[in-house]
Amino acid sequence: MNLHAVAIRNLIGPLWAAHERSPYLRHYSRLKQTQFEGKDRVEADQLQKLKRLLIHANETVPFYRKRFADAGFDPANFQSRAQLEVVPVLTKSEIRTVGRALISEAYRDRPDLRRKTTSGSTGVSLEVWVDEEAMQFKRGCTLRCDEWSGWRFGEPVAMVWGNPDYLKHGWRGRLRNGLLERACYLDTLKMDEATMARFADDLVRRPPSLIFGHAHSVYLFAAFMRQHRTGSIRPRGIITTAMVLHDWQRQVIEAEFSCKVTNRYGCEEVSLIACECEKHEGLHVNTDGQYVELIRDGRPVGPGEPGSIIVTDLVNHAMPLIRYQVGDVASWAGRPCSCGRTGMPLLARIEGREADYVTTRRGELISGISLTENFAMLVPGIEQLQIIQESLERFTFRIVRGPDYGPSSDARIQELAAERFGDDVAYDCEFVERIPPELSGKYRFCISKVPNAFSMSALTEIS
Ligand SMILES: [Zn+2]
Repeated sequence: MNLHAVAIRNLIGPLWAAHERSPYLRHYSRLKQTQFEGKDRVEADQLQKLKRLLIHANETVPFYRKRFADAGFDPANFQSRAQLEVVPVLTKSEIRTVGRALISEAYRDRPDLRRKTTSGSTGVSLEVWVDEEAMQFKRGCTLRCDEWSGWRFGEPVAMVWGNPDYLKHGWRGRLRNGLLERACYLDTLKMDEATMARFADDLVRRPPSLIFGHAHSVYLFAAFMRQHRTGSIRPRGIITTAMVLHDWQRQVIEAEFSCKVTNRYGCEEVSLIACECEKHEGLHVNTDGQYVELIRDGRPVGPGEPGSIIVTDLVNHAMPLIRYQVGDVASWAGRPCSCGRTGMPLLARIEGREADYVTTRRGELISGISLTENFAMLVPGIEQLQIIQESLERFTFRIVRGPDYGPSSDARIQELAAERFGDDVAYDCEFVERIPPELSGKYRFCISKVPNAFSMSALTEIS
């Protein structure tokens, strides 16, 4: 660790936190100590936090008071986490409809509530308000997981991200970035050969200890490096987030940077949900901040079975999110991680978004990720592919062709489409130069416009 990093860790960081009146570094120190606590202790702690939240929501949010009463749920008698299953899941469309009425009466007039917005896959924005205490606690949780990657607080960071955050805060943002965060940005909304070359130059000149970014964008950058400047950047950690990380992307990234990828999962509304540790055996649920359930057709799923991710935010009391359906699918590993953090259960993998599941006419549900991977692997000459299910019997394949693409590729697509979706489906191939990211800077490789077993509850809500 160099001198600047040591200074940030021991001096600038704590001073800046004191100036901001933020306790996040204290949270972080405590969370580092408690991360190895046993399962029973963690579950008891979660139960207590849940109960406090449920009673608070019942007392200060009329929406929940009615919801609990309708479900015959009494927070005062809450004793086991399974009791929560009678409370209906909270969908994005409900949050949109109910809006500010979800804010606790005890917090409504507070001037320091932080507004979080997400664009969402539908392009309709969602607003969530978070109280300052919760924000700082979440910051501590995130920092703890950042360090699981091998990076240490204070060391320089290479960010592969859309809309650099510090630019929104004028000179203060720049100063803070220069002194404290030390991040160099590659804006994922302007990623091309020229911007990647400039970014690579910057990183060679000022080597980052951490590369942090959208999974696919970090992959694109790794592929660029492999082609043009291979071996010139050697970070201690790489964190990918915000979208599903494919195994083939992980391989390219790890090979180019000679460094393990730490994959993580979270969303703007509740922040970090799960993260890989230094053992990379799955993603540990951030049990200090959230209670996570995986369900399908309203019931908890067993290990290895994909289930819709339902999150209860244990720390945000300003706008309680109780059994919030995030819109993604994951599966439990069903075994502890060898790191010893037994209180933080492992997700085997993030399967993708609910809306990325393709439903076939035979009623099968196929994960969009495996589907895209499967096509990309088996069809010769495909550089990139996006599968869009327009209806049960109609698909669009958006394809970036490589030099090997030819008539045999067309024939293979036809075979695979019949095999996976049935003989009678129709499809169009659209050949494009590139597959653009969404407005958020993230990429989607499979989009289904057909409702499925995971997204059903959300859609019932809309209709
Ligand atoms: Zn672990």
